[in-house]
Amino acid sequence: MSLRFFNTLTQELEPFQPLKNNTVRMYTCGPTVYNFVHIGNFRTFTFQDILRRWLRYRGFALDHVMNVTDVEDKIILNAAKEHKSLEDYTHAYTKAFFEDAAALRLEQPERVTPATKYIPEMVDAIEKLTAKGYTYTNDGSTYFRIANFPDYGKLSHNDFKGIRAGARVDQDEYDKADARDFVLWKGRKGDEPFWPTPFGDGRPGWHIECSAMAMSLLGETLDIHAGGVDLVFPHHENEIAQSEAITGKPFARFWLHSEHLQIEGQKMSKSLGNFYTLRELIDMGNQPEVIRYLLAQVPYRKKLNFTFDGLKAAVKSIERIRDFESRVSSAKLPPGKNESIAERSAAAIRQFEDAMDEDLNTAEALAAIFEYVRAVNTSLDENHFQEDNRWDAAKVLEVFDTVFDVLKPTPPSAAKTDGLSDSEIDALIAERNEAKKAKNFKRSDEIRNLLLEKSILLEDTKDGVRWKRK
Ligand code: AMP
Ligand code: ZN
Repeated sequence: MSLRFFNTLTQELEPFQPLKNNTVRMYTCGPTVYNFVHIGNFRTFTFQDILRRWLRYRGFALDHVMNVTDVEDKIILNAAKEHKSLEDYTHAYTKAFFEDAAALRLEQPERVTPATKYIPEMVDAIEKLTAKGYTYTNDGSTYFRIANFPDYGKLSHNDFKGIRAGARVDQDEYDKADARDFVLWKGRKGDEPFWPTPFGDGRPGWHIECSAMAMSLLGETLDIHAGGVDLVFPHHENEIAQSEAITGKPFARFWLHSEHLQIEGQKMSKSLGNFYTLRELIDMGNQPEVIRYLLAQVPYRKKLNFTFDGLKAAVKSIERIRDFESRVSSAKLPPGKNESIAERSAAAIRQFEDAMDEDLNTAEALAAIFEYVRAVNTSLDENHFQEDNRWDAAKVLEVFDTVFDVLKPTPPSAAKTDGLSDSEIDALIAERNEAKKAKNFKRSDEIRNLLLEKSILLEDTKDGVRWKRK
C-alpha cells in the first residue's frame, strides 16, 4: 500500500504517514453558522468524510477536530436584527448543519468545537504572538504584522513582496499598517458581543480561531489540515503565519483542498445566490444518498458542476449497484465456487484500493466497481457464477460501501424534512429579508415558495414579516 495525497504546500503527491503512532491528527474548517449551508459547502464536507473513511480503511485511528464558527460579522449582524443572543441565533443553524450532515451520512469528527468555547485559548495565542513581537494595536484592535513572517505566501504560492500598502487583500474593515496584515482581535464596537481580555474588550478574528483550537487540541504540528480551495488564501495562509510564529514548527504536514461545486460554470455560493440547500433538494424528492453520490463521484481536486441531469445519472448508478446486490444475493446458483470469479473479485478490490490510495481518486474507484458489476452480470447470465461466489461479490460491495455509503436506501420517513420548526421558519424569513434587501428576488421568491409548500403563509406587514401555519 502506498497512500498518497496531493499536498497544497509542496504542490506534490506525497506518501502519507502520521507523525506519531497510528493516529491521524486532522483539523478541518467547519461551517459558519449564520444560515443553512448549501450543497457546495457539503461537497467539501463530503470530501472530508471520504478522507476519514479511507484513512480508517487503511488502518489509521483518527483524531479529527472540526470547528463551528459561531461568532463572526454576519452572525452578529443577523442576530442583532432579530433581537437574538448569539447563542440562540447560531443554535438553530448548528443543529440544522448536523441534521443535514447526518442525512448525507457524514461521520461526525471526533471533536466538534464551537469557537466561542475556546476564547481563552485564542487570547493566550494572541498574547504569545505579542510577546514575540508579531502584533500591533490600532484603535482597540490587534493585528498580525506580516512583514515579520518571511514565509508568508508559502501555501498559496503567492509572492506578496510586491503588494503596495493600501491594496486590499483581506475583507476586514479595520485599519492596518500594511494591506496584508490581518486582524487577530477586533476591538469592541457599539453593542456587539465582546469578551474582556488584557489587551482590551472585543472578539476574535476568524483566523485565530482555527490556529488556537487546532493547536490546543491536536498539538503544534497536525498531520492533515483540510478545507475548500477558497480557504487557501487568506485563511489558511494566515493560520500558518499565526501558528508557526508562535511555535517555530510546521503547523500542518499535509494541506488538502477540495475544488468547488459549480453551478452553470460559477462557484456555488451564498453571496451569488446561486445555491441549493440539501433541504431544498430533498424536498424536491431527491434521496440524500443520491446527493452524497453526486458529490463524491468526482475526485475532490476537480471542479464539479451541479446539474439535475447529474442527479438523475446518480440515481441510475446507485440503482445499478443495488440491483446487482440483490441479484447476487437472491439468484439461484449452482453449488461450489468459480475460482476465476473469486480472482476477478479480489482484483476489483485491488483496483478500488489503488485508485483511492492515489489521492482519493473516487472516479477511478467507481470505474473499477462498474467494470466488475458488468463482468459478474455476464457470468451470472452465463451461469458461471456459483453459490460460494456470493461472498466474493458481497466483499467487493462492502469495500465500495465503506467509502461511498449509498447502498442502503434512506427510509421514506427520514427523507423528507416535512414540518419546519419555528426557528427554522424564522431563519428562512431572515434569509428572505436579506435576499430582498440585496435585490435577489429570485432567492426571496424561492424561499416564499418553499415556505408555501410547507403550508407556511407569509404576510408582509409594515412591522415586518409575520407568518402562520395553514
Ligand atoms: P463557510 O461556511 O463559508 O466557511 O464554508 C464551509 C466550507 O465550505 C469551507 O471549507 C469552504 O471552502 C467550502 N465551500 C464553500 N463554497 C463551496 C463550493 N461552492 N464548493 C465546495 N466547497 C465550498
Ligand atoms: Zn479555519
